[in-house]
Amino acid sequence: MTEHVLVINAGSSSLKYSLVDSDSGDAAATGLVERIGEQSSHHVHHGPKGDFEDDSPVASHEKALEAAVRAFETYGPALGDVDIVAVGHRVVHGGSQFAAPAPVDDALIAAVTELVPLAPLHNPANLEGIKVARRLLPDLPHVAVFDTAFHQTLPPYAYRYAVPFDWLKEYGIRRYGFHGTSHAFVSERAAQLLGRGADQLNLIVLHLGNGCSAAAIRRGNSVDTSMGLTPLEGLVMGTRSGDLDPAVHGHLARVAGQSAAETDRILNSESGLKGLTGENDFRELTRRRAAGDDRARLAFDLYCYRIKKYVGAYYAVLGTVDAIVFTAGVGQHSAEARAAALSDLDGLGIQVDPVRNTATTEGVISTDGSRVKVLVVPTNEEWQIAREALAVVRG
Ligand code: ADP
Repeated sequence: MTEHVLVINAGSSSLKYSLVDSDSGDAAATGLVERIGEQSSHHVHHGPKGDFEDDSPVASHEKALEAAVRAFETYGPALGDVDIVAVGHRVVHGGSQFAAPAPVDDALIAAVTELVPLAPLHNPANLEGIKVARRLLPDLPHVAVFDTAFHQTLPPYAYRYAVPFDWLKEYGIRRYGFHGTSHAFVSERAAQLLGRGADQLNLIVLHLGNGCSAAAIRRGNSVDTSMGLTPLEGLVMGTRSGDLDPAVHGHLARVAGQSAAETDRILNSESGLKGLTGENDFRELTRRRAAGDDRARLAFDLYCYRIKKYVGAYYAVLGTVDAIVFTAGVGQHSAEARAAALSDLDGLGIQVDPVRNTATTEGVISTDGSRVKVLVVPTNEEWQIAREALAVVRG
């Protein structure tokens, strides 16, 4: 029987799950419970026996997972009929402790709890998912897979900020990086497509989704990445500002009496493409830009310019670059963003082919003469979590 991993991604009011064939990456079933704890929740399940949708209230993550188990029974596949070898949990912040996925035990739960101040929105939700799943599925091994782990190979001069030395020890202030599961998956897949080992390649990976991050990957190891202490730093995102002068908080406190918490909220939820245009969906932004909307044009230009700056920086970091890889919603689908972000870089040996660039599936989009290959590689974080969880279980 094919081995499967149940992958769980618990958010503050949501629970996403996927039963993944660890060899092929195919999902035998997927589901999502949203608006947990609200009046009208929403549960969708796609299984081999059909699709299920329900809007009745789901009070807690525990109830959400119970509903998921029932949906597996009715719409398939019944969990008892599948060879499930592990439950893989996405955990956003693994701090400096976790450079690899790890089996869930009480010590791991305590360690992830200690990291809550670094990811106050995400880690408590991830922990809740772990606790609930361990209660309901006690006979399966549970594995935590961290978004930060892949970037633990950054050298100190890349992960340190130039702030008082002891802030790292006292407050954990350093760059951790995120989207590690995606960067790991995409860089391995890109190496396969190029017919080389990941350990023989230097890559720049651009994960452009609602959240966006760039990573410089030298011979399979992340050596720099654009997100930092939190996922706010770096590229322009759907609702997050990315890089800005750290004096902004103090300035707004002085001139507008705005609290640090409020500035934080605005920089995370009301900035980025949304702050500039009122719209965080890249498709709508593209449509408005094509219709001549000035703000949409500015937001698009700013978004792509920031990507280009990171490409230049990581090119210098790596010295030689074999390939630049685009992934996630915008990276995979927006030919306009890819073309603009890599425009006029012939001098660096980067040339996007306008016809190949119309692709939205896996493949090379650079010209034959481009010294640096440019690729589109759809990410599959669930499969990566499944593979990593399986590797932990196998030891
Ligand atoms: P998440 O980070 O939540 O996983 P995704 O990777 O799904 O997000 O990316 C979502 C973003 O991708 C949205 O801004 C969406 O508008 C954009 N996107 C999806 N499809 C397209 C498309 N065909 N063209 C341009 N942008 C797209």
